Amino acid sequence: MSGPRPVRAPRGTELTALGWQQEAALRMLQNNLDPEVAEHPDQLVVYGGTGKAARDWRSFDAMVRTLTTLKQDETMLVQSGRPVGVMQTHEWAPRVLIANSNLVGDWATWEEFRRLEALGLTMYGQMTAGSWIYIGTQGILQGTYETFAAVAAKRFGGTLAGTITLTAGLGGMGGAQPLAVTMNDGVAICIDCDPRAIERRIEHRYLDVRADSLEHALTLATEARDARRPLSIGVLGNAAELLPRALELGAPVDIVTDQTSAHDPLAYLPVGIPFEEMAAYAAGKPADFTLRARESMARHVEAMVGFQDAGAEVFDYGNSIRGEAKLAGYARAFDFPGFVPAYIRPLFCEGRGPFRWAALSGDPADIARTDRAVLDLFPENESLHRWIRLAGERVHFQGLPARICWLGYGERDRAGERFNDMVASGELTAPLAIGRDHLDCGSVASPYRETEAMRDGSDAIADWPLLNAMVNVASGASWVSIHHGGGVGMGRSIHAGQVTVADGTKLAGEKIRRVLTNDPGMGVVRHVDAGYEAAEGVASALGVRIPMAEG
Ligand code: NAD
Repeated sequence: MSGPRPVRAPRGTELTALGWQQEAALRMLQNNLDPEVAEHPDQLVVYGGTGKAARDWRSFDAMVRTLTTLKQDETMLVQSGRPVGVMQTHEWAPRVLIANSNLVGDWATWEEFRRLEALGLTMYGQMTAGSWIYIGTQGILQGTYETFAAVAAKRFGGTLAGTITLTAGLGGMGGAQPLAVTMNDGVAICIDCDPRAIERRIEHRYLDVRADSLEHALTLATEARDARRPLSIGVLGNAAELLPRALELGAPVDIVTDQTSAHDPLAYLPVGIPFEEMAAYAAGKPADFTLRARESMARHVEAMVGFQDAGAEVFDYGNSIRGEAKLAGYARAFDFPGFVPAYIRPLFCEGRGPFRWAALSGDPADIARTDRAVLDLFPENESLHRWIRLAGERVHFQGLPARICWLGYGERDRAGERFNDMVASGELTAPLAIGRDHLDCGSVASPYRETEAMRDGSDAIADWPLLNAMVNVASGASWVSIHHGGGVGMGRSIHAGQVTVADGTKLAGEKIRRVLTNDPGMGVVRHVDAGYEAAEGVASALGVRIPMAEG
């Protein structure tokens, strides 16, 4: 019987599989479960509540076995973390096709999902957990850095120096918040109910210090703010208790957000339940736990609205906490906006999004070389330069060394082709896996997050991510995935991902040019269709064909 064990991707240039396209999928699947990368590797959970890389250990073993023997003209089919077939295709086809957590509309509830999960029929794929392109907390760090930079630009004269941000959640994604705030020169107070989450972020240098209490945190924060010194402070506690208390104390907070796992009410700690009892309580009494979690979220969101009333910049950071608070009957839950309409949509209109790559060699020097290549390619982009420099200094690699930066339409293909040339010339010691988050410009329908408040009201139209996945299959991606629920929970999103391997061959170069043009191209056409002038400008300047605008 196969069971939990430490997993680590092979490094170096020796192939375990029959080719680099398959090898990349194999290494990235294993990398997702590396204890340095995954939040709970024994349970195959990578991040985001219960986001998994494989359904169970038997399925994991079967995928590893199959990828090891998969030929260049074969495709492995994965149904919610379990390999269910191998089909003969052709060399331009993806080596793996993945569908995770998809349910028919009327059945798309947590209750039904949990029932099917308990029967062993499905798993929660999150966004990059079940599609094997999670790169640890760095993945979200860049997006979070961009978001806080946009907050600074909108409200605070372009810097967070002299401001205090109050937030919660230091898990796989939320752990990026303290470093993203200090990279923007601000002060952050970050609450988490799990002492291990705080310790881990301090170990990885994403978080600077731990305070003994909320009051202590506020004292440290105020001192640092007055000195305009960046500082991040962890506080142990329940956000649904500490936020209302901070509001009562009149805490001088400028920015409030949250990244607890609110999208999944069984992963949000209700007030009154000790953290140590959380897992057993959630498993034993899920309905009662859900009710209590939602009530606590309502108190949490009420405090966020209170801070907004007091003048703070408040936003939902993509975890559905407003939706859950509303389900608990809190009427003002949607008084503050989601981060996408507030800060990210203008970037999406340009086809910008979380482009990322991992060095299959395992050698950090390969990433340093790609960093320099990106800086050379885009000399005029100042914030990209600042990010790459700070990331080089501050980012602790987890698992295979990797890098992320937001690039737009017309940029991603240039970077990808350059990387492929670097593999071909031997400048890089092994191929790269080039992918992205599902949270991208044209790959997701998510009315509480990426597609909240679209100009034409098309928030819930889910044709776009399906077209995106099909375009990537047709363009030559190495693996393509369609997921449901990631980030915001069951019934609330449909999204797609792609990874394309730069193995230095001419064929890979051809595939990369198409995929890395067409994939962000979906973002441009999606936003043109919704009526955004910025996207129309990009389409006409860069030659993206829009049939409805022709003739
Ligand atoms: P995670 O499960 O790894 O971490 C969640 C953290 O919240 C844990 O450390 C947990 O201890 C803490 N927590 C739970 N209840 C709490 C409470 N009541 N008080 C204080 N702390 C509490 O999840 P993650 O991967 O960090 O993701 C966090 C959320 O952000 C998820 O809902 C996810 O879907 C969402 N998300 C947002 C984005 C984005 O770009 N905005 C991207 C990915 C995920």
